Amino acid sequence: MNAPRVVIVEDDLQIRRFVRDAVAKAGCTAIEAGTGQQGLAAIAAEETQLLILDLGLPDMNGVDLIRELRHWSALPILILSARTTERDKVEALDAGADDYLTKPFGLGELLARMRVLLRRHGSDATASPLFQFADIEVDLAHHSVRRGDTEIKLTQLEFRLLATFVSNAGKVMTQRTLMNEVWGPGHVGQEHYLRIYVRRLRQKIEQNPIQPRHLLTEIGVGYRFQP
Ligand code: CA
Repeated sequence: MNAPRVVIVEDDLQIRRFVRDAVAKAGCTAIEAGTGQQGLAAIAAEETQLLILDLGLPDMNGVDLIRELRHWSALPILILSARTTERDKVEALDAGADDYLTKPFGLGELLARMRVLLRRHGSDATASPLFQFADIEVDLAHHSVRRGDTEIKLTQLEFRLLATFVSNAGKVMTQRTLMNEVWGPGHVGQEHYLRIYVRRLRQKIEQNPIQPRHLLTEIGVGYRFQP
């Protein structure tokens, strides 16, 4: 099998080199682009497994690049955002990006996020209706959740929320995305429901709901499910 191809779109040369070396370290082929247009061309030219994208580009806004790309590609996208682009970060996630790193970030963090996104991409075809994490088994086909031999009773909405989380394991989910997927469109501004349901889910599935290990809060963004 060929090494996964990773396109890096970043105009800051120092950061781009840092990311390029990390990509090589992960056993992937790095393709570098300094502008959004070069990046789109590189992705269109050859099958690509991951895009690492800076949001502040000289020729276009990274969010617009994501919107354009999402017309024709489901490629996983990892955003690199500066503190000054925090709002753009949520917008980028809503536009279809999969995860983000806030600058400055470390090598270990970058490699971990890359691994999750590359794995997700590779395993989609063999998705199983059974999902396991810690001592919990979620049966997506039969809408049941067990801890060992004991069934955990969830309401329909709680199950839908948990199913959305496990189907997007490792990926950061914005409040808007979760509201849309679980409650349906038209519930923007009712994010307090989400907080209530996340708290209930934590009480049912976390060993210690006060210090969750699976249903993690991403401050200012949303949540991430960590198996
Ligand atoms: Ca930049």
